[in-house]
Amino acid sequence: MKEADLFSPGGCCITYSHPEEAVFVVDRHIFDRKLAENALDRGAKIFLNTKISSLSVEDKYVMAHIKTQEGEHNVFADICVIATGANYNLQSSLGLGRPKKIIKGIQVEIKTEDIERLRLYWGRRFSNGFFGWAIPLMDGRTRVGVMTEGNAIDGLRNTLSAIGDSIDSSSELSKARRRGIAFGTITRSYSDRIIVVGEAAGHIKTTTGGGIYYGLLSAEIASKVIKKAFKVGTFEAKTISKYEKQWKKILGKEIAFGEYFHKFYSKLSDNSLDGLFSAAKQDALLSYIAKNGKFDWHKDAIVKIIKSPNLRKALWNGFFCY
Ligand SMILES: Cc1cc2nc3c(=O)[nH]c(=O)nc-3n(C[C@H](O)[C@H](O)[C@H](O)COP(=O)(O)OP(=O)(O)OC[C@H]3O[C@@H](n4cnc5c(N)ncnc54)[C@H](O)[C@@H]3O)c2cc1C
Repeated sequence: MKEADLFSPGGCCITYSHPEEAVFVVDRHIFDRKLAENALDRGAKIFLNTKISSLSVEDKYVMAHIKTQEGEHNVFADICVIATGANYNLQSSLGLGRPKKIIKGIQVEIKTEDIERLRLYWGRRFSNGFFGWAIPLMDGRTRVGVMTEGNAIDGLRNTLSAIGDSIDSSSELSKARRRGIAFGTITRSYSDRIIVVGEAAGHIKTTTGGGIYYGLLSAEIASKVIKKAFKVGTFEAKTISKYEKQWKKILGKEIAFGEYFHKFYSKLSDNSLDGLFSAAKQDALLSYIAKNGKFDWHKDAIVKIIKSPNLRKALWNGFFCY
């Protein structure tokens, strides 16, 4: 996608155009299946409908207690990678902590011809602290969702209504899928014989809740550190700690900046957000983002917002009004 319509709470619309494709929409089923096929090609074994209920780390191995439909058994390994998404039982039991918050995510796929390009909706009736979205797919299908700290069902209902009167929101709401989204990293992403990657470690953009790109980055770093550990034949925390050092170098500031910005942003009223939209229209911010913006990296854009005189004025006014 190259273009997006950004809607303020009061309905002001800014169309943003990026010089080249900035965002790619993936079919998650095809994407995940392809990743699984790649793993199988490289010798992995995949066990479906299998849950790890506990992990215990010993001097010479890590043991996973596994539950399947057929029964329970233990698996022994040199090292274990926790990649369980927004499920934090294993990490907590090992003393690695949980993310600061879990945000509500909800999404449904609907049939509509009304949406030509990506739409993003800001305002309390859509989302508390984040935004709603409508992403056009192929064959007249559109993915509509909300990420919020408030009532996710109400947010999605209002987003569906904003898209068009013809949508039967109650029947669409019954098909919606809900899931938590991590906000902030866990306390520690490694210990003896353990590495935590992806959303399980809180590797999620704190601005948008996107986690696929950061997850792939952290997995790549983890795989290099694990290869090295096998080479030297030691899986102690000291060897594995390089993983955390390396991902922090790349993702640490981005995640922390997003957290600070969210703290501030989530206090703004709808009126203040409308003020920000008017200021953005007068300002050269959008052309700056079109020129320099990167979809996966938001820190520099946030700094630009804070430095821009019109936007800074609107932000401060909004903050003090609140
Ligand atoms: C509504 C919504 C919209 C989103 N939109 C986007 C988007 O547009 N772009 C983007 O980048 N991200 C998006 N995300 C976030 C994205 O889905 C996640 O960041 C990403 O899926 C995390 O990948 P992961 O591999 O770390 O975990 P997951 O994809 O959650 O995979 C974890 C897997 O581990 C399994 N598992 C969990 N516990 C156990 C256990 N104890 N034993 C065995 N298996 C276990 C789970 O069943 C699951 O299969 C969205 C999230 C939501 C909720």
